[in-house]
Amino acid sequence: MDKNPRSTLKKCRRVLIKIGSKVLNTGKGLNNRVIDRLCDDLSLLRDQGKEFALVSSGAIAEGTAIMRVKGNGVTLSKKQALAAIGQGSLIRAYTDAFRRYGYTAAQILITREDLDDRLRYLNIRNTFTALFEYDAIPIINENDTVSVEEIKFTDNDMLAAMIIPLVEPQALIVLTDTNGVYREDPRVNPNAEIIREIKDIRSEDVKAHSCEAGSMGRGGMQSKIKAAYHASLLGIPTVIASAYVPQVVSSVLEGKEIGTYVHPRKKGKLTQKDHWISYVTRPKGRVVVDRGAAAMILGQGKSLLPCGVVRVEGNFQAGDPVEIVEEDGRAIAVGLSNFTTEDTLKIKGANTKEVFRIMGHECDEEVVHRNNMIVKKELLS
Ligand code: GLU
Repeated sequence: MDKNPRSTLKKCRRVLIKIGSKVLNTGKGLNNRVIDRLCDDLSLLRDQGKEFALVSSGAIAEGTAIMRVKGNGVTLSKKQALAAIGQGSLIRAYTDAFRRYGYTAAQILITREDLDDRLRYLNIRNTFTALFEYDAIPIINENDTVSVEEIKFTDNDMLAAMIIPLVEPQALIVLTDTNGVYREDPRVNPNAEIIREIKDIRSEDVKAHSCEAGSMGRGGMQSKIKAAYHASLLGIPTVIASAYVPQVVSSVLEGKEIGTYVHPRKKGKLTQKDHWISYVTRPKGRVVVDRGAAAMILGQGKSLLPCGVVRVEGNFQAGDPVEIVEEDGRAIAVGLSNFTTEDTLKIKGANTKEVFRIMGHECDEEVVHRNNMIVKKELLS
């Protein structure tokens, strides 16, 4: 048996790649060399039947170059405008580069809110499926122009992490401006040791150089590690490598020792739905439960029944994610509620028979069914 964990990379059919602003930007505009080289590499692999989706930053950086904007301190709305200006050139660069090989790039712009909503989330998955059927190469970016919160809080590493279940790749490759994850910041200590393999991204002493993101990029190494952590939870490996290595993707997929390889989790990988409940969607309300209900959920693996509910907060619809909290405020789980806020208030404290009577019709017995619930202890921060 081949003990080299990287040999599994040879079998990957579909790969999600993330490339950041820092390597795509020369300071005077898009780094077309990097884009062309990457597209050459991907097109040749595409000829061999491999499929790719590419999360690409660079819109704001390109807009900044086009408008010759100098310095930091650009207001949020101006950043959004710069993204609108730069995104067109960005996608054109990919379209042109792939067209040389007869391949088609497709633009997908996503906001955090699109992923929050289950229906929209699943719709995006259908779009990806259709794009792969058309043999197109999806180029994904955050929809910076409309997403205020997006610019403030997240980065494209996290976007890549969150769309893993939508793209359904067998590996994630994060291309950046360093050779991988180091034990110390290599800019401070040029002799810093590179970590070639991370077996358990949670327990491993990953003292990665959490370098500050550059003036254009937002992620830094910590957010790449976080993305790799999500990939690991979802059961796929990640390679964090330098975008400047020629044919980097081919080399990674040949199993060569390039960059840092992060192992997928061996046991208890999260399903797409559990990942969505735990990490992607945000709770729309809180259901406060008594000690008995908390013990049943935590210790017995049970659903949340109306009789255990003591208080309801927020404004949620049936199907929305809610946080389940103990009376002392400790969150113990998240899950999808079968009832609206109003109905949960009506049935709180009631037993099953009473619930049917109060509701006036047959309905779910559980406020949150176990199948739609993730207990916090299973949530690995
Ligand atoms: N979405 C931004 C852009 O295209 C960059 C996001 C990031 O650097 O993570 O310019």
